[in-house]
Amino acid sequence: MFDNLSLKLDKAFQNLKGQGRITEINVATTIKEIRKALIDADVNYKVAKEVTDEIKEKALGEDVLTAISPGQLLIKITNDELTALMGGKSEDIVIEGNPSIILIAGLQGSGKTTFSGKLASYLKKQGRSVLLTACDIYRPAAIDQLKVLGEQVGVDVYAEPENKDAVKIASAAIEYAKKNNHRVVIVDTAGRLAVDEEMMNEIARLKDALKPAETLFVVDSMTGQDAVNTAKAFNDRLNFNGVVLTKLDGDTRGGAALSIRRVVDKPIKFVSTGEKMEAIDRFYPDRMASRILGMGDVVTLVEKAQQAFDEEEAKRLSKKIRKNQFDFNDFLSQLEQVKKMGNMKDLLGMIPGMGKAMKEIDIDDNSFKPIEAIIRSMTNQERENPDMINASRKNRIAVGSGTSVPQVNQLLKQFGEMRKMMKTMNKMGGGKRALSALN
Ligand code: GDP
Repeated sequence: MFDNLSLKLDKAFQNLKGQGRITEINVATTIKEIRKALIDADVNYKVAKEVTDEIKEKALGEDVLTAISPGQLLIKITNDELTALMGGKSEDIVIEGNPSIILIAGLQGSGKTTFSGKLASYLKKQGRSVLLTACDIYRPAAIDQLKVLGEQVGVDVYAEPENKDAVKIASAAIEYAKKNNHRVVIVDTAGRLAVDEEMMNEIARLKDALKPAETLFVVDSMTGQDAVNTAKAFNDRLNFNGVVLTKLDGDTRGGAALSIRRVVDKPIKFVSTGEKMEAIDRFYPDRMASRILGMGDVVTLVEKAQQAFDEEEAKRLSKKIRKNQFDFNDFLSQLEQVKKMGNMKDLLGMIPGMGKAMKEIDIDDNSFKPIEAIIRSMTNQERENPDMINASRKNRIAVGSGTSVPQVNQLLKQFGEMRKMMKTMNKMGGGKRALSALN
């Protein structure tokens, strides 16, 4: 799904590799490429421009934390903007009234009948008693298709093959539902190959007569810009409540998913990703954005870093490193910050390409425990001035921390080397680099 768009966006972010911060100049190419990638994916030009302008403005306004790179920050901002573009929050289907009526509208072949079956199965799994109603009066095969699907998912189907009045059929179905204790009635309607007056009139008549709690517009996501135009035509006439995007399993370019919400201002509620009855998912804008970017894990990683990283503390440490005053207390504080970000193995696994490699390596958070215990067994004086730790102090620390003297020696040696490295880096200029080496 969206493979091409994901690849192009990934390439756009590569432009920022190696850059220390985001500037008007270095972000310009990336923004241009993001815009082009969106337009190539069939996102409406105006929408693509608005979104990329917002990404640029946000990127220039944000400080890049030492813990993340400008590329990662831009991915995060793009992810947030795409999420907002698709509506921000996920919106659930409205079930209201007795029975609750759900009207399914859309062009012929968009996947209405298939979706009706899926939705029936989805609601049945939630413990609701559902009735499917065949109101596609022009296509006898549609009635049979719905009957087959109903049987497959174990849901009752109401049909009157001889009746040519959709409103009458639907009204009779509602009566039937009331008698048989069905709490939800899904009404599958007739579609045409293109938007036409007669079809619109019929669906509008159904909507007026049935007063459904939900009118869902079903659209084939493979039709790109056309999907958006059709959505607009249906919405102008029907004022529907929600959108269902079908065939997201195919070679879709993603434009429909990204533009429909902005253009018709109605939430996408479901996506359909295959012909099987289980291929229905509630729509979550944030998850879809992460999938489009193909790097959902980096987004989580950046969020965790933003939550855990204390800029004031970073400045304080940076100052101490510059003055060659970094001690065991500072080391402990660094450990705390890393730990706040979560499980070490999970964190490393979030870096693209690392997930697979991580499976082979055995890192667990317990590896930090003896280090922490040793530092905590030191007196404050010892932490500030490790050189004073002689043999008897080492013995006491080892006993206190439940470790051994060789383990204490090893940590002291590593800490000594780290301080030496910081000193050398300071001589070369800038403690900031040393700090990011620690992160
Ligand atoms: P309707 O005319 O709007 O009722 O459309 P149908 O439900 O008959 O679907 C048209 C065709 O699209 C059928 O062959 C379905 O099996 C297929 N279809 C429906 N939804 C999906 C989907 O999410 N993915 C794929 N790959 N095919 C779908």
